[in-house]
Amino acid sequence: MTGETKWGCTHNERQPVSSTCAAIWAAPACLPRVSSIQLWWATRVHSPHHSLWSLQWPSTRLSANISPRFPGSQPFGSVPLTPVVSQPTVLQPYGPPPTSAQVTAQLAGMQISGAVAPALPPVGLGYGSPASLASASGSFPNPGLYGSYPQGQAPPLSQAQGHLGAQPPQRSAPPQASTFTSPASGGPRMPSMTGPFLPGQGFGGPSLSQPNHVSSPPPQALPPGTQMTGPPGPPPPMHSSQQPGYQLQQNGSFGPARGPQPNYGSPYPGAPTFGSQPGPPQPLPPKRLDPDAIPSPQLNELPPQQKTRHRIDPDAIPSPIQVIEDDRNNRGSEPFVTGVRGQVPPLVTTNFLVKDQGNASPRYIRCTSYNIPCTSDMAKQAQVPLAAVIKPLARLPPEEVSPYVVDHGESGPLRCNRCKAYMCPFMQFIEGGRRFQCCFCSCINDVPPQYFQHLDHTGKRVDAYDRPELSLGSYEFLATVDYCKNNKFPSPPAFIFMIDVSYNAIRSGLVRLLCEELKSLLDFLPREGGTEESAIRVGFVTYNKVLHFYNVKSSLAQPQMMVVSDVADMFVPLLDGFLVNVSESRAVITSLLDQIPEMFADTRETETVFAPVIQAGMEALKAAECAGKLFLFHTSLPIAEAPGKLKNRDDRKLINTDKEKTLFQPQTGAYQTLAKECVAQGCCVDLFLFPNQYVDVATLSVVPQLTGGSVYKYACFQVENDQERFLSDLRRDVQKVVGFDAVMRVRTSTGIRAVDFFGAFYMSNTTDVELAGLDGDKTVTVEFKHDDRLNEESGALLQCALLYTSCAGQRRLRIHNLALNCCTQLADLYRNCETDTLINYMAKFAYRGVLNSPVKTVRDTLITQCAQILACYRKNCASPSSAGQLILPECMKLLPVYLNCVLKSDVLQPGAEVTTDDRAYVRQLVTSMDVAETNVFFYPRLLPLTKSPIESATEPPAVRASEERLSNGDIYLLENGLNLFLWVGASVQQGVVQSLFNVSSFSQITSGLSVLPVLDNPLSKKVRGLIDSLRAQRSRYMKLIVVKQEDKLEMLFKHFLVEDKSLSGGASYVDFLCHMHKEIRQLLS
Ligand SMILES: [Zn+2]
Repeated sequence: MTGETKWGCTHNERQPVSSTCAAIWAAPACLPRVSSIQLWWATRVHSPHHSLWSLQWPSTRLSANISPRFPGSQPFGSVPLTPVVSQPTVLQPYGPPPTSAQVTAQLAGMQISGAVAPALPPVGLGYGSPASLASASGSFPNPGLYGSYPQGQAPPLSQAQGHLGAQPPQRSAPPQASTFTSPASGGPRMPSMTGPFLPGQGFGGPSLSQPNHVSSPPPQALPPGTQMTGPPGPPPPMHSSQQPGYQLQQNGSFGPARGPQPNYGSPYPGAPTFGSQPGPPQPLPPKRLDPDAIPSPQLNELPPQQKTRHRIDPDAIPSPIQVIEDDRNNRGSEPFVTGVRGQVPPLVTTNFLVKDQGNASPRYIRCTSYNIPCTSDMAKQAQVPLAAVIKPLARLPPEEVSPYVVDHGESGPLRCNRCKAYMCPFMQFIEGGRRFQCCFCSCINDVPPQYFQHLDHTGKRVDAYDRPELSLGSYEFLATVDYCKNNKFPSPPAFIFMIDVSYNAIRSGLVRLLCEELKSLLDFLPREGGTEESAIRVGFVTYNKVLHFYNVKSSLAQPQMMVVSDVADMFVPLLDGFLVNVSESRAVITSLLDQIPEMFADTRETETVFAPVIQAGMEALKAAECAGKLFLFHTSLPIAEAPGKLKNRDDRKLINTDKEKTLFQPQTGAYQTLAKECVAQGCCVDLFLFPNQYVDVATLSVVPQLTGGSVYKYACFQVENDQERFLSDLRRDVQKVVGFDAVMRVRTSTGIRAVDFFGAFYMSNTTDVELAGLDGDKTVTVEFKHDDRLNEESGALLQCALLYTSCAGQRRLRIHNLALNCCTQLADLYRNCETDTLINYMAKFAYRGVLNSPVKTVRDTLITQCAQILACYRKNCASPSSAGQLILPECMKLLPVYLNCVLKSDVLQPGAEVTTDDRAYVRQLVTSMDVAETNVFFYPRLLPLTKSPIESATEPPAVRASEERLSNGDIYLLENGLNLFLWVGASVQQGVVQSLFNVSSFSQITSGLSVLPVLDNPLSKKVRGLIDSLRAQRSRYMKLIVVKQEDKLEMLFKHFLVEDKSLSGGASYVDFLCHMHKEIRQLLS
């Protein structure tokens, strides 16, 4: 089945069609993907329905029920569980048995009521802003979390040489790391208990007086299984003496907000606050988790140090690392074949190949559930959002085939007459092939004579496998002139570089660096189909309070400048010679780029305009009758007198008030109006910001956001520190393939319809997503609602159609189809969900919500929805059990931990060091993120570097993002797609320090270092190679920051240890899980 090119595709290889692979993958998909994590009260030991496995630790016990339905299957990887009691599994009351595995954590006195003590940030700590940290350490100038740090490395080859879509390195993780292991520390605590705990009671919040255990030996473990031999005892009395089985902690990370550490010291005197804003008061912890809100007399009578007693062992609760590892091991080795309807794909963290057999690859579309409830009543009951995360122009790994281009000539693509859906594999041909019934609206359509083909005995067209649109999930059609603006085929797009030449831009070295880079970068503009030269034309504008246009016509000896000072009524002073072909005008362009830094070298102009710049670029494209992209390089708040003039309205006192939402809203409507004009012209705006202080990102990012553009931010930009990061981002941004003047429409089969859209785009009606530009990184999340009953047999269909102009000016339609199952049993819904996609949707929903609602309301809404989802599962799908159990569906067992990360993110719960601009920036970034990006952004990857053998070529297995997972004898990399840290433990071997940093001791390592020395030894090579590979996986360059244990900079790093309690008041994972349990119990009672 290879080598056929009948449909005139641009590729000469066809994807093999393998039915055997489909069979292989059908099987795991049918596995009941439900297990339960049950947090259990002391009085309950055995379930009569399940075989029990047991793990022991002091105050809590974990037992896993492994259903014998799939004998031999170990749902949690290599968990060394000891079988204690073995009983037959009883079917679940609803539908087929959803339980393939159950883990039961039995918690003696689980601290529901004390879930999160409102730990005030340590008084007098005053970690201050990163700015103050940086200033104090003297290493770098005022970086923010999203700011910038020194850099000086050569760019990654893939970016420097223009190879787009660098393939992420193989990530086949070794089958290791089972975090559900029995904690070696601790024996049973049950015998010492004195009385049962009622639900809702507990042992109070964590203490502020936690010892900073670092390397104490683990307590003695008692023989496993002893706990299960008798009935459970009552809860233990409160001993303030040593408790022998506690998870040892470092710096109290698992309890209250971290207390003062040696070396952290107090505020740095005279340290400036970030930007020009006064530092805000330390935010108060959230009230919603206040234990005092729950009657718990025992709790309040306890001395504080006793309130920490009965913690849940973090190893007993669902581990993101374990889930990721299991999926890699189970699903990473075989291709994912898309032939079967409703298959849940491997996780985004698994490296897998896709074979298109009729449904779109998960690289293009991922769904929150692959099995949709048949009725809206069921959907409302479950509260599981039905959403698809669509990345229409996603880049594929080299092993996969880009969508074939189908050319139907003048007749254009075949569509349903009624709903306008495009021909796809699900259309049903009838009457011997003379007609087809639309799979979306059931309309019967005539087959045009030129498209007629006979049917085989199964009713399938005999040419089905020769036509991509009849056999594949994703393909493209060449569009006819009917699909073009003004019924005219488009001209090739143009790029306009618009450079701020005000004082700040010149002084930081930005203008010189940029002009130098553009001279070579212009040779790497996106091309198509192996053409030698890009079709894209370029133009140049510089500006401060006025705009300077440049004539770079090839016939000129020198470029000509034209100044437009009437910024209130922007016009383009020249047409001929403004947009030019790079190779034709190379000499003039080079001359211009040489002259710009010199021309403005002595400028004293500090004021800038902004809206007129965009207006000018858009007018230029309009005059040239083409779509295109503006690359804006901008440094300051545009305060010069002009349309779109802004004032500094940053006010951190608004945080946690009803007016906080105004910080996220644009301060004027002028930019929305401007964006609308840009979209109409197909003018996409990419904004590179280089602020030294507040620039109102919330307002400046409106046009990029609504035109499908990108925003990059480099706080306090200095060439020597930040050029690597900026140039890497710029190279990638300029070179990436973009679709212009695009419209996306999502059609669905009868019964559901797309009702809401999240992403960087503009909508002028309720159905069409308009994108002035769309690149391979941008994602649109679409929510669906029922408008009728769905049918189990026919399932549900989605078709995403994207009409766009390619880089070469070709008008095309890209079609993605996806068939989903429909169910009448809730258990089927919960078995086929994807938590990573749910989180993507919920984060975008929340991040949009902060524009209109108080942040607290948004957080509460998320918590309520999560509780409703889990309560519905508990009520309808889980086997009857004690109310004290927290039961999570297997597919959603990470929902609480991931949701907690969203709740405590900078947008929803900012720490003192996060600026208003940072929050607006991140809010805007997340809006366009795909599932893989939101996954790592909210739950960062933490990789130990010296645990695995140096020779090992694979990435080391990650550990959970918690301080207690850090060993002070090791080195770790942490990345979240935007930030990259190298954390060095204080007791790291001297040889390791020497190998990596070329210094003889820990104390000699420069804190805040951003480049590792290039040393010729295996460890250095491995670590630098790993850093390069992490960077290659992400769409933005991550600057490295070396952080030493107990160093001032460590606070920045700890911000990303998301399983711990955060300084801004965000709950720890364990505390949040307890809180979630309480919410669920309230819903069920
Ligand atoms: Zn139709």
